[in-house]
Amino acid sequence: MQFNFRCPTRIFFDEQCVQKYSSQLSALGRKALVVTGRTSSKRNGSLRDMIAAFSQEGIQYNVFDEVEENPSLKTVYRAANMARKLEAEFIVGIGGGSPMDAAKAVAVLATNNISEQDLMDKKWTADPLPIVAVPTTAGTGSEVTPYSILTVDWAETKKSIAGEKLFPAVAFMDARYTRNLPWNITINTAVDALSHSVEGFVNNRATVFSDLLALESISIIGRLLKTMTEDDITLSQREELLYASMLGGIVIAQTATGVIHALGYPLTYFKGLPHGLANGVVMKASLEFLAQSSPDRVEQVVKSMGCKDLEEFGNLLKKVLSPVDIKLTTREQDLYVAKTLQAKNIANCPKKPEEKDIYEILKNSSLV
Ligand code: NAP
Ligand code: ZN
Repeated sequence: MQFNFRCPTRIFFDEQCVQKYSSQLSALGRKALVVTGRTSSKRNGSLRDMIAAFSQEGIQYNVFDEVEENPSLKTVYRAANMARKLEAEFIVGIGGGSPMDAAKAVAVLATNNISEQDLMDKKWTADPLPIVAVPTTAGTGSEVTPYSILTVDWAETKKSIAGEKLFPAVAFMDARYTRNLPWNITINTAVDALSHSVEGFVNNRATVFSDLLALESISIIGRLLKTMTEDDITLSQREELLYASMLGGIVIAQTATGVIHALGYPLTYFKGLPHGLANGVVMKASLEFLAQSSPDRVEQVVKSMGCKDLEEFGNLLKKVLSPVDIKLTTREQDLYVAKTLQAKNIANCPKKPEEKDIYEILKNSSLV
């Protein structure tokens, strides 16, 4: 048995944790830049709570509220300018994965005046500013990962940067912020969380410790996907989703992702599919591929989901996800396969997929 486990983020999981533990903020500095999306954090109470905590602690702040879904490099550079002008001492990301990931890149750029290429090549020398993360979706787990995923137009795809100092110093997790999350985003993000735990469990970097968290998270999400409904999803179910997504984040912080994410990125970049939906569309066929080399692991995933076989697993995903009616042209298939082969995370699969395997996954996902 051997493992290397890292979760340096201090996690507060509680109703009103921002208010209860506001002293954590003043420990990080006197000036903060909040990085958030356009509207949701103003509606769900998360921004209001953070501002109240700032005033309680006497922290000066500014708000950058222009982060779009799948944040672009342009956006993070704009926010970083604001951080420098303010002389921010820490960055607070509030929202789904997009604002939290943007906050991480802003934390790097606030202390490093570097080009886009150097950012993506991780050529920064000064430590990023400390990061605080407040998730308002239950999916990415970015609040506990060292990854920031950015849309890189010159590479025509999404790419991630990773670094020890990109783990948020503090995560405030209050499920009330997810209470009014629209149903389709609830499902897409839950499926994203599921894909983290599934990939983390099957990846060759899985350990006994990450397995424990992955299986727990898969079984919570499996149960909830079967039982929760749009009309009566409760706060405690939302809380369980948030918990399961955090577990999935801790898992991929150890194991990284695999072919599901590698193939999901072109579907998001070129077809605009939300991240979790993109992963969900290729998940069953990817598991069929992964079962060729790791049948036992895939079997455990299926059982933890509460399904009898992969067929039932696929049908459950189909039932909860919005239908995707995409048929890729031959040229598109070639491009997506090439992008997937370039993604470094496919090396984490128990058997690295070859070109033919990725074509097969596209076909078996009904995308052809
Ligand atoms: P998102 O792109 O952050 O947000 C999607 C939408 O949900 C936005 O329109 C947002 O509105 C809205 N929203 C967020 N919270 C809400 C709430 N409480 N109530 C109502 N609406 C709300 O979605 P996401 O799925 O959480 O994040 C996806 C991104 O995370 C992708 O870029 C993906 O690649 C990345 N990701 C990162 C990691 C990691 O480890 N770092 C892992 C997986 C995925 P506003 O714009 O108004 O806020
Ligand atoms: Zn993901």
